[in-house]
Amino acid sequence: MTDKLLTGKRALVTGASSGLGARFAEILAADGAEVLLAARRVDRLTSLVASITAGGGKAIPLELDVTDPGSVSASVAAAFGDGGVDILVNNAGISIEKRITDFTLDDYDRLMGTNQRGAWLVAQAVGQGMIARGQGGKIVNIASVLASSVLTGLSLYSMSKAAIVQMTRSMALEWARFDIQVNALAPGYIETEINTGHFNSEAGKKQIEKLLRKRVGHPRDLDGALRLLVASDSNFITGSVITLDDGQTLKGF
Ligand code: NDP
Repeated sequence: MTDKLLTGKRALVTGASSGLGARFAEILAADGAEVLLAARRVDRLTSLVASITAGGGKAIPLELDVTDPGSVSASVAAAFGDGGVDILVNNAGISIEKRITDFTLDDYDRLMGTNQRGAWLVAQAVGQGMIARGQGGKIVNIASVLASSVLTGLSLYSMSKAAIVQMTRSMALEWARFDIQVNALAPGYIETEINTGHFNSEAGKKQIEKLLRKRVGHPRDLDGALRLLVASDSNFITGSVITLDDGQTLKGF
């Protein structure tokens, strides 16, 4: 039997209980990796593990709250304790939509605590583990087109994703000598639980009509870019941000 692209590799996917993270986990498992599925909703992870396993893949659920440093260090230690991590997809994230004048400190802490501090804690811990293990690795951080554009109501989200881009570049710089490539995906609108309420509303439907191709994406639209960044084909790519937005930002939102 021919080996698949990622046979023998182990991948950790955060935010694997829904949306993009669930899809990333399925793709990595289909390509032969053993995938650690991390998030807070363990019931969802268990169902996805069952479906991946039923399809012949290898997956393990891992409870993780990225806002809790103790949870991050315990999960990452467990991941390295039982075999290590070759690939991290640093995907967990939330969105809170409000005008700047209405945001509370709690909103700020929750959003930044998840998207910025949480992503940092996970990448830092996994990077430390990869360096100690000495076998290199691939880190894919999930940014957004809003790292470099702005939309009314999404100021904090944009700020958090801009930080992900600079985190990606900084980690790529410092960890190149350990053969760790760090890149980011910057998706445009992809329909998932983070935005499905909006896109099913009248305002959301109107917004879709204004998009360049009058459509939002499906999580599978990121498959190709993910596969590139986790494979050896991309060993010369580090510190890069790949935009996948169906041209949405060419026209403006
Ligand atoms: P979903 O809401 O479907 O998924 C978000 C995931 O993040 C869930 O699995 C959730 O799991 C996890 N998560 C949230 N908070 C935490 C936490 N404290 N600890 C651990 N996991 C957490 O949204 P998407 O799939 O769309 O979002 C995935 C990523 O993609 C996010 O970073 C988002 O910003 C980014 N993105 C999404 C775009 C889109 O249009 N959909 C566009 C650009 C970027 P649980 O609640 O079980 O913990």
